[in-house]
Amino acid sequence: MIAGLHAIRGPLLNPSPTAGVDYFPDGVLVGDDRGRIVAVGAWDEVAARLNLDAAAVPRSRGLILPPLLDAHIHIPQHPIRGRFAENIGADPPGGRLLASLEQNVFPAEGRCEGPAHARHVVADFATDTLANGVIGGAAYMTVHPRATRIALEQLPESWSVGLVLMNGRCPAYLRTNEPSLADDITALAHDFGRRLIVTDRFAVSVDAPLRKQGVALARQHGLRMQTHLDEQRAEKALIEEVLYPEAGSYTGVYARDGLLDCEPILAHCIHVRPEEVDLIAGSASSIAHCPVSNTLLGSGVMPLDTIRSAGIPHALCTDVGASPTTSLFCEMAQFLKVHAAASSSATPEEALRLVTVAPARMLGVGDRLGTFAAGMEWSFIEVACDGPVPATAREAILGGLLGMSEADLDSWRSGDGPAAAAMRRLRDEGLDWGHDLAVLDADVRATAARLEGRVRRVTRAGKVVWPPGSPVA
Ligand SMILES: [Zn+2]
Repeated sequence: MIAGLHAIRGPLLNPSPTAGVDYFPDGVLVGDDRGRIVAVGAWDEVAARLNLDAAAVPRSRGLILPPLLDAHIHIPQHPIRGRFAENIGADPPGGRLLASLEQNVFPAEGRCEGPAHARHVVADFATDTLANGVIGGAAYMTVHPRATRIALEQLPESWSVGLVLMNGRCPAYLRTNEPSLADDITALAHDFGRRLIVTDRFAVSVDAPLRKQGVALARQHGLRMQTHLDEQRAEKALIEEVLYPEAGSYTGVYARDGLLDCEPILAHCIHVRPEEVDLIAGSASSIAHCPVSNTLLGSGVMPLDTIRSAGIPHALCTDVGASPTTSLFCEMAQFLKVHAAASSSATPEEALRLVTVAPARMLGVGDRLGTFAAGMEWSFIEVACDGPVPATAREAILGGLLGMSEADLDSWRSGDGPAAAAMRRLRDEGLDWGHDLAVLDADVRATAARLEGRVRRVTRAGKVVWPPGSPVA
């Protein structure tokens, strides 16, 4: 073993920057003292080339893969994850999204005004995401500059965080302090640079003058933006028919006000018309695709093949608190289920790329995270994988990471059975809020419970960062 080198040996998944996933049933990942990758590949080839001693190289605690990144998640909703739409009726006026915000979400966000509570929420968020192998991403905090600062201070630098802009259709206690906004953003941008994301809650809650001020501040400080777009039909109708009838479309509001020029991460994009897809594709936007949230809130199914063929960058994200879990494995499983019947591009390999290499590029860290290559961070997670070592990448992801079988996938594809039938209605007609929602909700929660806690260890740039107190790899 060459001095200064460290290695870990085991079944290894390496998502490709271009397409597919390389898989080595007996693989090795070699790093140096600076926490950089030196080599990755099949054990026989790399061990011979670098003169590695088999007795000196530890075995992994399961499948080795790059750490995960979540490009759309709400920190203040972490304490109410999975209870986003609790006690909301089947068909409230304005739809379930707007009713859930008012009844369950806004009160949880309001509590983060208190710094002690905000610190507690951020600490729990940091621990829980890391335990699920998620080392960074893009998050929403609240309208409170102090809470946003707490999140940026407490979370690792691989997390970007947004001070939320909001000045309408929300409680008075959750309105942006507009007179101090420029000073607040300037101070946060000074201390945290591009880790601060200018965050337009969504066009329902932000009027055009506030949005334009956010865009101007983003340009002034070289920051990017994030928002929600085309999540639910009732929300889209409110935007296009009542609030902004002159803008042409929901996406047209963001195009007109300059938001699309600020490299935005746009969450959901389910009910996009062709002209909206063109607007998004013609900008430097990317899409946060959240299948669990879109299922549990009955929002619909994002048109995956349309987004792919338009060449719009996209990644799988949890949208916690609408999801009950920060596990991106649950999101991968739901991605396969929601698209099984209508898209041939929703493969297990693609699902893994969409939680690793795709978000790394969206977040501007693709040169050091998301895939394994010489010179990148020696960062990886080890995930429990029961039974014999999988033979292929597809087996390793579907069976090993997600605990699903080909027969499971077939049942979602064929449309047989109550769950697949409910999924078809969600996509094509709109959910039956009684039976369909109960079936899909139970399935998601069972999947979440099964896939949480499967990450055995998280290593960041050569240091074990989870579980706490672990010996170095
Ligand atoms: Zn969201």
